[in-house]
Amino acid sequence: MPNTSDRLTLVAGGAGFIGSHLCRMLLESGERVVCLDNLQTSRRSNLTGLQRYENFEFVRHDITAPLPTSVVSRTRQFERIYNLACAASPPQYQADPEHTMLTNVVGTDRLLRLAEASGARFLLTSTSEVYGDPEAHPQQEDYRGNVSCTGPRACYDEGKRAAETLTFDFARTGRADVRVARIFNTYGPNMDPGDGRVVSNVVCQALSGQPITIYGDGTQTRSFCYVGDTADALWRLMESDGDMLEPVNIGNPRELEVKELVDLVSALMGRDLEVTYRPLPVDDPRRRRPNIERARSVLDWEPTTTLEDGIRATIDWFARELGDADEVDTRIVASLDSRRKRTSAARQRVAGPAAAASQTAVG
Ligand code: UDP
Repeated sequence: MPNTSDRLTLVAGGAGFIGSHLCRMLLESGERVVCLDNLQTSRRSNLTGLQRYENFEFVRHDITAPLPTSVVSRTRQFERIYNLACAASPPQYQADPEHTMLTNVVGTDRLLRLAEASGARFLLTSTSEVYGDPEAHPQQEDYRGNVSCTGPRACYDEGKRAAETLTFDFARTGRADVRVARIFNTYGPNMDPGDGRVVSNVVCQALSGQPITIYGDGTQTRSFCYVGDTADALWRLMESDGDMLEPVNIGNPRELEVKELVDLVSALMGRDLEVTYRPLPVDDPRRRRPNIERARSVLDWEPTTTLEDGIRATIDWFARELGDADEVDTRIVASLDSRRKRTSAARQRVAGPAAAASQTAVG
């Protein structure tokens, strides 16, 4: 990696699950990081961990609103801008779909304009969701996807597709130097126990002795990448040379069924787990596995954490985070409650993004 000491870097969404790992990596390399986050889906303790670094600065802001003065005033000083700002788990991004779409389109546009004015390199975190419920398997970057533009996942899938379009248009018209990562399912420490994703749900349910919820028959597949590997790939992509007018898949090509994931958690915890089956959500993709040849060749990257090691570390982290098993139930409930409250606050923001921003832009 190049020497990036003292570089001023903006990370939108830096207090979130993947963002907090990326920020830590950048801070430890000596970069000065300004983290812009509305804390919609972030755990407060992610932020507390980052605030220990003196080269870290936090600005609470929702990118659907005009960027705050504390950022705009340093326009020409930014050299790198990462955009990870968006709720990413299906229950969370569907809770306020209008806001999800605007975060991806309006928010990405604002950050791209900042990159243009700063002469900064810009990295968009896109998603495997741009492939929808894929007919091609595994998914390679040139596959155009099978996405519903009207379904409940569309606010995120189509929002990210539009964000990619904007990003590549800025590059094609010479307005910004850009990178686009398509991130597949990622897991690990700093996940919100209440975000509703399969890994956090299964591990937290197992730790608390609750039945595991499997949606559908559990034969749908995903490929899970450990968050440390994902953050490393994002950094490598940002620092890669040349014109990057193509997106890059970032994920772990090891594919498994959801019920195999449950079996793995059960084996690692040394315990049989009771399972309850729920209906499969609308438009839930049947299969997902990245082709990572481009990341291998361009970034010299591939995941190095095995699923067994990563899930073990995640179980340990959630066990510590949630406290003793007896306390786990109530803490998960508290976390889910706070998510419901955030969701209901989001729903009240029917007056649009300016109203939303006025609630959160405290600088
Ligand atoms: N899923 C499940 N039980 C849960 C949460 C999710 O069976 O408690 C399923 C979900 O329907 C999907 C897969 O696990 O098929 C991955 O879901 P996740 O929300 O983690 O992410 P997605 O890849 O769907 O965005």
